[in-house]
Amino acid sequence: MPDCIFCRIAAGEIPAAKVHDSEHLIAFRDVNPQAPVHILIIPKRHVESVLALQEADSPLVGEIHFLAARLARDEGIADSGFRLVTNTNAAAGQSVPHLHFHLLGGRPMRWPPG
Ligand code: 5GP
Ligand code: ZN
Repeated sequence: MPDCIFCRIAAGEIPAAKVHDSEHLIAFRDVNPQAPVHILIIPKRHVESVLALQEADSPLVGEIHFLAARLARDEGIADSGFRLVTNTNAAAGQSVPHLHFHLLGGRPMRWPPG
C-alpha cells in the first residue's frame, strides 16, 4: 500500500529504529513511546488489522508471538512483565491501518486499560 506509513517503514523508505528484520516481520521502536520499552511488531505485508487476517495467516500470527516473547526477553522485561496489544478500529485507538502489535514494558501497568 503506497500511502501506508508502516509499509513504507517495512520497505526502508522511512527510517525507523529497527530491532528485528526477517522474511515476514519487522520490529521497531515506537516514535512516541508509552513505556520504557515500546516496540511495534508488524508483518511486512499490508494487513489492515486482526479483522483482515485469514486462517492461512495462522503461522504469521504465531511468528509474531514468538518474536514478542524473544524481544521481551532481550529487552529485559520478560520477568517483570509486559503487554502485547493490538488496537483495532477507532474506539480502541487504532491510528495506523496496518496490523501492529505493541510490546510494552518496563513500568507497572494498570488494568483495565483506559
Ligand atoms: P495505534 O495507535 O494504531 O495502536 O499505534 C500506532 C503507533 O505507531 C503509535 O504508538 C505511534 O506512536 C506509532 N507511530 C506512528 N507513526 C510512526 C512512525 O513513523 N515511526 C514509528 N517508529 N512509530 C510510529
Ligand atoms: Zn501497510
